[in-house]
Amino acid sequence: MQKYIRFVNGLRKFIQSRMTPEEAIASARTQLKHRMLAREENFLTLAEKSIFGYPRSPYLKLLVPKQITFDDVKSWVSQNGIEQTLRVLQNEGIYFTVDEFKGKIPVVRKGIEFRCEESMFDNPFLSCAYEVRSGATRSAGTRIRIDFDYLNQRCLYDAFLLNHHGCLTSPIANWFPVFPGAPGINSSLRFAHIGNRVQRWFSQVAEDQLNVNWEKKWGTKLIFTMHSLYGSSLAEPEYASLNDAYKIAEWASQALNEHSTCVVYTFAASAVRVCIAAAEANLNLRGAKFFVTGEPLTPQKKKEIESVGASAVPVYGISEAGVIAAGCDTPDAASDHCHLYKDTTAAITHKHRVPHSDMNVDSFLFTSLLYESPKLLLNVGMGDYGEISTGGCECEFAELGFDTHRSYEKLTGEGVTFVDTDFIRIIEKELPEKFGGRSTDYQLVEHEDARGLTQLQLLVSPRVGSINENAVLGAFLVLLKTAEDSPESWAQSGTEMWKQSKMVRITRDSPIATASGKILPFYLQKNKKSQAVKA
Ligand SMILES: [Zn+2]
Repeated sequence: MQKYIRFVNGLRKFIQSRMTPEEAIASARTQLKHRMLAREENFLTLAEKSIFGYPRSPYLKLLVPKQITFDDVKSWVSQNGIEQTLRVLQNEGIYFTVDEFKGKIPVVRKGIEFRCEESMFDNPFLSCAYEVRSGATRSAGTRIRIDFDYLNQRCLYDAFLLNHHGCLTSPIANWFPVFPGAPGINSSLRFAHIGNRVQRWFSQVAEDQLNVNWEKKWGTKLIFTMHSLYGSSLAEPEYASLNDAYKIAEWASQALNEHSTCVVYTFAASAVRVCIAAAEANLNLRGAKFFVTGEPLTPQKKKEIESVGASAVPVYGISEAGVIAAGCDTPDAASDHCHLYKDTTAAITHKHRVPHSDMNVDSFLFTSLLYESPKLLLNVGMGDYGEISTGGCECEFAELGFDTHRSYEKLTGEGVTFVDTDFIRIIEKELPEKFGGRSTDYQLVEHEDARGLTQLQLLVSPRVGSINENAVLGAFLVLLKTAEDSPESWAQSGTEMWKQSKMVRITRDSPIATASGKILPFYLQKNKKSQAVKA
């Protein structure tokens, strides 16, 4: 009961403290600057309380055997700063990979072995939280408690970002799956909080296609009802499948009749769909800004979006912390050029071999610096990789001291990350068991088509003999959707979206070997920098 009372009170306080756009941008400017100055202090406070002073902290299991104390960390930070300290810790084995963090594989360091549970990373100091999930509803998918105080902090970035791109008060629409998917509900709440509520919320998935428990349904209802009560109604989600991109294009073109800009916040591939639909229907999108997330904005996707006179802003988020980097307005920047929100997140990279592949990449390790963070991250990987560099930009973000951040991908399709241990098991074990052949007779190949859309081919080796292609495809999608430990990010919404877009097709061909001659469960058919497959 206590939990529900806290939820309601937190929600009420959150709604009542909403700002005007002008207040939001003024507050953003002051607070971001202030937090950059207090960055080391904030990191040390959080480390002292939530790691060294929190007996259940999973990090202690790594720190104690190495005899690393809070005083050590404090002196390293004062001598060499946060990032250098994080590198020292990483070298000492103080980090978690994404699979370790999610408890999918045990943590093995010299002389230590244990398994994590995701709940171990929950911030114990949150008071009024609601829960969203980026995985399936019933499994160990990513469960995130979002605190209203945290959202209050996060929305300052929205104000800053919108203002930077000249659209602080422009009309906004979302195209994200309904709750419990995180970005739809979170961004609706955040934009309402800075006085520019989302006008339409389109959802790629219909509510009745998802299983959501009563508690979450009740929580969502309450969020909508209380916003109405306090005179700040949120847009109710409207179903618009991937084949209905026209609806979003139509909304944007109407908004542009009255405003010089409008904002569509969605997945990068979904944005491309809107632009294709607009071009086909001869709708004007000149001035529209697509804030795109969920997958990297590739050069091809950026080109497609710009070809209709719109522009694209990459927004990089991790489900455990929300948006942590976003693009600036520097002309001709690389398509995935972002700035890291360095006041609340620290990031370093380390060489990492991608599981189930022969790629070596610079994998990100993230650290949360904000007291209201839903998860306490200290050098935690999220399965993606890229580059971090300083300088090279003279924008407002750089002025604040936010480093340049480029992220390459995880394997994703329409914002849905699917390569993980479950996926591997389905390809290598379950499909051969059901339809014949061996573990290397099936392979998923990802490539980007000429329109910038992700296409997936499920290769089935001719060796397997005669098969019913529809049955194999159907079984593949069902296995993904119902995996006990479902793939990360909206396993349910994701497979639903793939079905709509007919993104996966079966091809009878031999799986493709890597340069080193290995057959792996997935193969990226792209000529990107990230594609440096080493022999
Ligand atoms: Zn910049």
